[in-house]
Amino acid sequence: TTITAADIEKIQVLGHGNGGTVYKVRHKRTSATYALKVVHSDSDPLNRRQILREISILRRTDSPYVVNCLGVFEKSGGDIAILMEYMDKGTLESLIKSGAVFSEEIVAKIAYQVVEGLEHLHAHKIVHRDIKPSNLLVNGEMQVKIADFGVSKIMCRTLDPCNSYVGTCAYMSPERFDPDTYGNDGTYNAYASDIWSLGLTLLELYMGHFPYLPDGQRPDWATLMCVICFGEPPSLPDCVTKDFRSFIECCLQKDSSKRWTASQLLLHPFLQNIKG
Ligand code: ADP
Ligand code: MG
Repeated sequence: TTITAADIEKIQVLGHGNGGTVYKVRHKRTSATYALKVVHSDSDPLNRRQILREISILRRTDSPYVVNCLGVFEKSGGDIAILMEYMDKGTLESLIKSGAVFSEEIVAKIAYQVVEGLEHLHAHKIVHRDIKPSNLLVNGEMQVKIADFGVSKIMCRTLDPCNSYVGTCAYMSPERFDPDTYGNDGTYNAYASDIWSLGLTLLELYMGHFPYLPDGQRPDWATLMCVICFGEPPSLPDCVTKDFRSFIECCLQKDSSKRWTASQLLLHPFLQNIKG
């Protein structure tokens, strides 16, 4: 049975985003909770394009590591809404901000799930383009799922020479700022950029703050961009295991052609012996 807009009621706001609002909603008859991402009819055409793109991508995906879409509502007035599974622990960003400490073992469990999710997306020619803690959702079973496909892209070919400017600057790979650092063959490998963002995200979980900046410091964008392009990639403190250090190095290769793919990372020693 499909759920209709009339079956659900709003409980509270979970988050505000670019032109849309995400609500916690309840199914009136079953009391099951869901998340509903709504873009209003009067919002920017850009936001409408983004949610339509998100819908088309969620329809193509079916993975326990990607947030599950249960339906799409389009009101005659023009509101568009996506009904999703509700992830009750919020985002990895909110967990970091609440002071949660992520041990190496927990980082490995999170890494495994995000890499599985990216492997699924990349196999379906989808590049996320905005992997970061606030787009990774967590539930009470410590399942982690990739969400927010507003700036994602479905690739027509494996290698895409165009490098359009989307996503959050801070998590963007060097080659997205600087064409001189493109892969050895001179082409831009969009999939590899998701792996860079994953590496930064995992480093942030372990360190408790964005790795390029001291805890609490706000970014000066021009300086940050220079450091990402011309500096050494950030790395882990000395106390971690060699498998963890190596995994992060495989993600944070500045040369995108040397960066590991999601399928390769699934075979990395850091991710062995993890049960989901
Ligand atoms: P935006 O494009 O606005 O960033 P997101 O899809 O990232 O849209 O959603 C914005 C916020 O809403 C998220 O950072 C998260 O806090 C919350 N959120 C989104 N989807 C869910 C969900 N399925 N379950 C719980 N919270 C969610
Ligand atoms: Mg988001």
